[in-house]
Amino acid sequence: MAALYCVMGDPIEHSRSPEIHRRFAAQFSIALEYRRINVQPGSLPSMVRRFAEDGGLGCNITVPLKEEAAALSDSLGDGARQAGAANTLSFGDNGRIHGDNTDGPGLLRHLRVNLGLELENASILIIGAGGAARGIIPALMGANIAKITLVNRTRKRALELARRFAPLGAIRAGNPEAETPPPADLVINASSAGLAGHPPRLPRSLAAGAHCIDLAYGKAAEAFMSWARRGGARSTHDGWGMLVEQAAESFAIWHDRHPDTRKLLNP
Ligand code: NDP
Repeated sequence: MAALYCVMGDPIEHSRSPEIHRRFAAQFSIALEYRRINVQPGSLPSMVRRFAEDGGLGCNITVPLKEEAAALSDSLGDGARQAGAANTLSFGDNGRIHGDNTDGPGLLRHLRVNLGLELENASILIIGAGGAARGIIPALMGANIAKITLVNRTRKRALELARRFAPLGAIRAGNPEAETPPPADLVINASSAGLAGHPPRLPRSLAAGAHCIDLAYGKAAEAFMSWARRGGARSTHDGWGMLVEQAAESFAIWHDRHPDTRKLLNP
């Protein structure tokens, strides 16, 4: 019988996680069924329980449910605990749920190994303060960067995250209404504004000379990438590489084997 996994989120139809996990499974001849399940905020605990009762062994969690996923977990890995957000749930025999966060390790591996970027002493601007931002901040702070400026549509959430992560390193919440954020070496769009086709509501000059990456991929990344290119970015990237690398980390947690990501990165 095929091992059963899924990704839960809303929207979910666009998710390419099933394809990625099936291709990883094929590398090890693992029989795998991987579904997409649309889950509205508030109903994650019941949907996860039902999926586990149906024989599911684990699930990935995406927008906007990662904080809910951490809250429902019986235990958390270090990254998920620091982030207060989980994107990988594993079900134990005893019905217990363990939550991990592979977004941070996946992004780091993509930036360093696949894109060859130096992060040491980098100034980083992060746009967005949702589950994805929570997942990547602790990992970035562990990479000897200089500082992070965080801006978000709802400033209160940026202030909360800056307070939460201040013990890990230099981070402050910017106030773009009052002042332009400082120049950065790396601009990361961790907001989901691109799903509705919206570019950042920030001056394009912030992209000048910076490496710019949107965590979203495909069409959802187009508005940010065009904003960055027109602002004179040094390089622009969408979130495909991170998606593949965070999926590889999830796969390794579930199957105890690390897949080769190269074929998916360079199809
Ligand atoms: P959340 O729903 O948790 O957070 C969404 C964030 O986007 C919030 O900061 C929200 O601001 C902001 N936002 C939403 N709409 C707008 C808008 N119209 N204008 C400005 N800001 C907006 O989502 P996640 O953090 O989980 O995911 C964010 C993005 O990152 C998604 O596109 C997701 O697909 C991508 N992602 C990609 C991964 C990858 O592996 N490549 C991994 C994880 C995420 P506010 O607080 O004001 O609501």
